[in-house]
Amino acid sequence: MDKMELKALGKINLGLDVLGRRENGYHDVRMVMQTVYLYDQIVITKTKQPGVKAETNLFYLPVDENNLACRAAKMLIDEFNITEGVHISMDKKIPVSAGMAGGSADAAAVLFGVNKMFGLGLSMTELEERGVKLGADVPYCLMRGTVLAEGIGEKLTPLLACPKCFVLLAKPPISVSTKMVYEKLDALEITEHPDIDGILNGLARKNIHKVAECMGNVLEQVMIPEYPVIGEIKEMMLETGALGAMMSGSGPTVFGIYKTRGAAKEGARKIKSRGLARQVHVTNVHNV
Ligand code: ATP
Repeated sequence: MDKMELKALGKINLGLDVLGRRENGYHDVRMVMQTVYLYDQIVITKTKQPGVKAETNLFYLPVDENNLACRAAKMLIDEFNITEGVHISMDKKIPVSAGMAGGSADAAAVLFGVNKMFGLGLSMTELEERGVKLGADVPYCLMRGTVLAEGIGEKLTPLLACPKCFVLLAKPPISVSTKMVYEKLDALEITEHPDIDGILNGLARKNIHKVAECMGNVLEQVMIPEYPVIGEIKEMMLETGALGAMMSGSGPTVFGIYKTRGAAKEGARKIKSRGLARQVHVTNVHNV
């Protein structure tokens, strides 16, 4: 196999709670992760020339070892003394620095692809062990679906699939670094925590209304006071019939859960026409 085409799927968090901070700066989290059908198209091609080469449709993204996908390929090439090389092409659709784990999804796709392409024989668990060295969300991006993530995000428990629903994603034009958001959270006294157990209960009962009602993200307490547009997008989603609306990850992407595609599209139209966000997508939850 000299060429592989892969879909690197993005994620949202149905719930995100932070339990504490570790000595090394990492945080202990309790998150409910959900894959959505918005993806970066990844093409991996085997090359005679050794090393990793990459290209992307986004001019501002690095295509050297600062790209997580390149680092993923190099990790396996070095470990297994592979003498050939790879070319990685990334057609990115997942918004960047948006709380949707785009970089981690690309890295996971490349770990999966290089393992297959060179017949390395690594199991899913072995890939996850390598993935966490690249980023806390990479193991989840390998597993995908509806999952409870604990520890720094690498302790994964698969859950019953989230019931079918439509997801409106809107990224306001704000640039935030995940590190900065967590640092600001550390400086706050957190009194309100999202009801993660309520979400788990809703999923176990296949009750999307219950899930939506319990959705919550502790990082909104940092982001909404600073960037009110996040709160405005949430309100617009609820006004247009979303069962629930929340910021994903460290933001700034906001998502709404809708029963119908039509309602989600109407929400998208209003968010765009009010100028709240330009990067807007209607998609659905994805479980394999
Ligand atoms: P998370 O939800 O895990 O916090 P994120 O959505 O906030 O992730 P990403 O889009 O994964 O953020 O990437 C953030 C940073 O990582 C960007 O500054 C970007 O330059 C860098 N990066 C490295 N590799 C990639 C990649 N393949 N795709 C996107 N960004 C990448």
